[in-house]
Amino acid sequence: MTIAFITHHECSLHRVAVHHPEVPERLSAIDDRMLASGISILLSHYDAPLVTREQLLRVHTADYVDYVESSSPGPDDMVCLDEGDTVMTEHTLQAARRAAGAAVLGVDLVMSGEASSAFCSVRPPGHHAERARAMGFCIFNNVAVGAAHALAQHGLERVAVVDFDVHHGNGTEDIFRDEPRVLFCSTFQHPFYPHTGEAVDSPHLVNVPLTRGVTGREFRDAVKGHWLPALEAFKPQLIMISAGFDGHREEDMADFRLVEDDYAWVTRELKEVAKRHGEGRLVSCLEGGYALSALGRSACVHLDALIGH
Ligand SMILES: [Zn+2]
Repeated sequence: MTIAFITHHECSLHRVAVHHPEVPERLSAIDDRMLASGISILLSHYDAPLVTREQLLRVHTADYVDYVESSSPGPDDMVCLDEGDTVMTEHTLQAARRAAGAAVLGVDLVMSGEASSAFCSVRPPGHHAERARAMGFCIFNNVAVGAAHALAQHGLERVAVVDFDVHHGNGTEDIFRDEPRVLFCSTFQHPFYPHTGEAVDSPHLVNVPLTRGVTGREFRDAVKGHWLPALEAFKPQLIMISAGFDGHREEDMADFRLVEDDYAWVTRELKEVAKRHGEGRLVSCLEGGYALSALGRSACVHLDALIGH
């Protein structure tokens, strides 16, 4: 069984402002922990390709893609795409193209059978990026680009996107709100940024708002009570994961109290669903996670669970 690890050195060239939490060291924290734990040699390593315009236009408007491309600044310059969170510098556009391209490659690898599952260790993250708006450090919605590729290129009829980042995946919801071929499941701290996800009346949007201070037991109860029944009924041919690790108890960014075991557990549960309905196909994209040590450890137990230890 091959587990693909997809990244690109250009994802680390994207630097934002001083004191911004979304730093290149996030990816090296994962790399370092992978090497130290011995997981790295168990994975097949791939360079992320550049996403194509056609692939982006499945989930973003042409005006928005044009806006991002034309906003890309030169050396020593900086452009803000929203109220201040989402910044582009010289290498951001290239990093964002690699991050979205990684999700596409991940889907291609699991659909061809070259890999059973894939993890995209990329930045900038994606799940806050809406169809026509950058938001919350996110420029292109990587996981949505991957899911849309699975529908359009591989002809899948049922793709689940599961989001365990501590923040609601408002961008993914915005993109797939009217797409019944995609089931979107999200747990998130509420009320909290981005202040979305509370009330929905769609059978293919499973939002589970959780109060601050949530422990692993409550998180697992939410997954068992809401996600797993919805996934069993939907029978996804592919599961995409928005893997944000900022619900870890060591995170200053938010107020969940999850630990590595919780990320391992939810990964194993999703893997079982993927085995039952989608020949084990699972593509995971890094979202949040800003406490570097906790991020490295959490990503590695996630990978370990994908491998099947
Ligand atoms: Zn987050």
